[in-house]
Amino acid sequence: QEKDYQFMLRTRNPAGYVPPELFVTLDKLAGEYGNQTLRATTRQGFQMHGILKKNLKNAIAAIVKSMGSTLGACGDVNRNVMAPPAPFKNKPEYQYAWEYAENIAQLLTPQTGAYYEVWLDGEKVISAEENPEVVAARQRNGTGTIIHDNPEPIYGTHYMPRKFKCAVTVPGDNSIDLYSQDLTLVVITNDKQELVGFDVFAGGGLGRTHNKEETFARMADEICYVAKDDVYELIKAIVATQRDYSDRSDRRHARLKYLINDWGVDKFRSKVEEYFGKKLAPFQPLPEFKYEDYLGWQEQGDGKLFLGISVENGRIKDEGSLKLRTALREIVTQFNLPIRLTPHHNVIFSDIEPSNKQAIQDILTRCGVQTDPEAINPLVRYSMACPAMPTCGLAITESERIMPSVLKRIETLLEQVGLEKEHFVVRMTGCPNGCARPYLAELGFVGSATESYQVWLGGSSAQTRLAEPYMERMHINDLETQLKPIFAYFKQEKQDGETFGTFCDRVGFDAIREFAEQYESE
Ligand code: SF4
Repeated sequence: QEKDYQFMLRTRNPAGYVPPELFVTLDKLAGEYGNQTLRATTRQGFQMHGILKKNLKNAIAAIVKSMGSTLGACGDVNRNVMAPPAPFKNKPEYQYAWEYAENIAQLLTPQTGAYYEVWLDGEKVISAEENPEVVAARQRNGTGTIIHDNPEPIYGTHYMPRKFKCAVTVPGDNSIDLYSQDLTLVVITNDKQELVGFDVFAGGGLGRTHNKEETFARMADEICYVAKDDVYELIKAIVATQRDYSDRSDRRHARLKYLINDWGVDKFRSKVEEYFGKKLAPFQPLPEFKYEDYLGWQEQGDGKLFLGISVENGRIKDEGSLKLRTALREIVTQFNLPIRLTPHHNVIFSDIEPSNKQAIQDILTRCGVQTDPEAINPLVRYSMACPAMPTCGLAITESERIMPSVLKRIETLLEQVGLEKEHFVVRMTGCPNGCARPYLAELGFVGSATESYQVWLGGSSAQTRLAEPYMERMHINDLETQLKPIFAYFKQEKQDGETFGTFCDRVGFDAIREFAEQYESE
């Protein structure tokens, strides 16, 4: 008899959009086939854990029939396309970001019928209306080697050498960690707030392997500006360049970031121009990028409200007095509200009639869910941890399960050195793959050996600077000994308004180590 193999299933939700019927289905599947929880991911999708092989087909079929999909959420193709989750109806740039996230997802969806043959016995259920402009763009033959009579006009016969990650954002909004993506578009509008084009970043990526110097976390580069009418051709040109020139002999060296790093940005631009068929226009100046999490009750600009709810480590479950899963289920079923998953694994309800606000708040209060962002411990609010053990086969250490206690310990240390009110971005992963993007955190922990973590310092609070590895291996029991001197140094030397990550970046690791040595000997 075959073993009871368990699977993780991940959904694809461009710009984090989850229609109410899909949430109801996912919640039901988590109860029937999963482990009674749903996990919001850091790419604005859902993961379900613990699905037995015999239930996988039913689960995927149910998702597709509820306007969802799992196609392209994993694998060597374009992954879930991210966009800021804020449902501002009076800020057109946010609407453009959603629209183009959806369109890029369609453009780069694998065209194979195999998905439907395997999971739906060949029945092709249309989960969303396809944009004819995007369908035409997919079929158009580029000037390069884009294959137009292949069932996969963009991916060709061999698909991509490795996963490919895209995002669309608006100027100044770094809620999507734009520097961590293979390709990020930034919406550019004119004086009338009409969409005219996009600034393009490429070559970001965080996954790496311990002790393999040739693998590294990298921030995306500024590549060019592209007019709106040419954007799909440019995306195809970038995808084709990666498809044809990245390293297919070594998966560890196959992401776009390595190609751009090895070639340099200029060579990459000229190769993209060959596929694109014209010169790339210069990148346009952008304002400083900030991080926003859109929590709490807010006006969405059309008379309705939205509500951002913090989900610690993205885990939607009922446990003790906190009945988050029940609360979300009740709200979706009673008010038929859509959800936007955020890149910080939180949940946003949008399109709320003000007359329903109190009833929704009552459900959340009864279920023990905090809706006032200021009442959430900021260390918890801005932290992220990947699932790791026991559901991820790549995990070297704990992450999600240990993060609450780690944050408590950090809070205690901050109190001990006189920094009670201080907080910063802490992220943790159970392996160097970096799913919770620890390399952009102010304090990052990356599982490196049993119960031990690499410690990264120096990222910024808006995730616009790459952190650096400060320690290769810190046993979790040594957290206090290792971190307390750093916090004490921060307390002593921090400048007005300086954040922890910026402090570490300014003073440098040599100074931190020197201070730590003296501190220990005192
Ligand atoms: Fe698994 Fe590693 Fe990703 Fe964590 S970072 S979920 S351990 S692959």
